[in-house]
Amino acid sequence: MRALIDRIGVGATQAELSLATGLSRPSVATLLGTFPSVTESRPNTGGGPGSARTGRQAATYDVDPKAAWAAAIDIGRAHLFVAICDLRGAGGEIQSMEDPEPGFDLPTSPLLTLERGAEMLNELLDRSPGYELDGLVGIAVGLPGPVTDNRPRDRVLDWGDRDVADRLREVLRASGDRWRDHAPALGVIVDNDANLSAVGEARWGVAAEASNVLYVKWSTGLGAGLIMDGRLCRGSGGASGEFGHTPVPGDVELGVAECAACGRRCHESAIGFRPLLRERGWDYRHVREAARDRSHTDHRFVAGWIEERAELLGRALVPVVNVLNPEMVVINGILDQSMERLFVRPIMRSLEIHGAMRAAYSDLRIRGGEFTVSAAAHGGLALSLQEFSLPFLLEQ
Ligand SMILES: [Zn+2]
Repeated sequence: MRALIDRIGVGATQAELSLATGLSRPSVATLLGTFPSVTESRPNTGGGPGSARTGRQAATYDVDPKAAWAAAIDIGRAHLFVAICDLRGAGGEIQSMEDPEPGFDLPTSPLLTLERGAEMLNELLDRSPGYELDGLVGIAVGLPGPVTDNRPRDRVLDWGDRDVADRLREVLRASGDRWRDHAPALGVIVDNDANLSAVGEARWGVAAEASNVLYVKWSTGLGAGLIMDGRLCRGSGGASGEFGHTPVPGDVELGVAECAACGRRCHESAIGFRPLLRERGWDYRHVREAARDRSHTDHRFVAGWIEERAELLGRALVPVVNVLNPEMVVINGILDQSMERLFVRPIMRSLEIHGAMRAAYSDLRIRGGEFTVSAAAHGGLALSLQEFSLPFLLEQ
């Protein structure tokens, strides 16, 4: 089944499946005959009267992409992003919906936030034909800050100590009759948004060719997610890769304030965009436009601000790169691919000057992310499909 899922849309022959599973061709045919979501077709290529070739052509098998689908709800400090996709993942169509201003304080309103997430998911389902709840394999929820045991840690969200997966199941159950049978046993993954984003970029985005990736969410704060040998590393406390709260060196003169989260003058307070937005009264879209567009009135100022911090970011990354030796660092959040010219060179230069080992940085690539605001949702979908789709299809 896994071999078949990997070849969705192109089909797989008996021979290929036999090779992938070690089963004989007749066994493959018998086994796949038991799955309602698998279709068998026999290409009609020759073999007619007078033809030298006789006998039936090898069957090709395919899975109905809508037989299993996944959902993701990404919860930020101030926004919600919900997405669904079928088994094809990013190879098919991803339906999504964003609420940039829900009108309440997300960090202190767990119930309202999950209810709004459920409402958006229901709206998305209403307008996406073919997505029946019978085929939902699972949902991933992205939260800001470290997450362990389905609970936010470090008080980035003041959500108490209840299991977010359980709460989501309850909220979905209450959101409409269609969920009555499906919500109680629903598979739910709860993870840090930067971790999910790392998976999104590493599976379907700019880092799709790389197996060792450090994802840096350079947004109002400075988060990170880590993929090593193709696997998401969460760490024992869910804080793997999080270098943002290490203190800045004493000689840094950027007027760094104390960080609200860790209480120190840390890299997040020095590099994150929060103080800039607050000082200027801007929202992140303004910064993004100013950074992207050279003719924007604020371009020079914003570009200078970013270059200066990119240099400090490079310095912060020295021990991270020396310890982990990633092949790619993906910078995303407010910044993305279209602004690489502002941050790639300062980060590289800083790595060199401040002591990264040549072996650790000489082949390192620094890239802007592909998915920006939808990165965590992409990763949530990819992770849900990876964790849940196979057992789900085998259970059908
Ligand atoms: Zn901090």
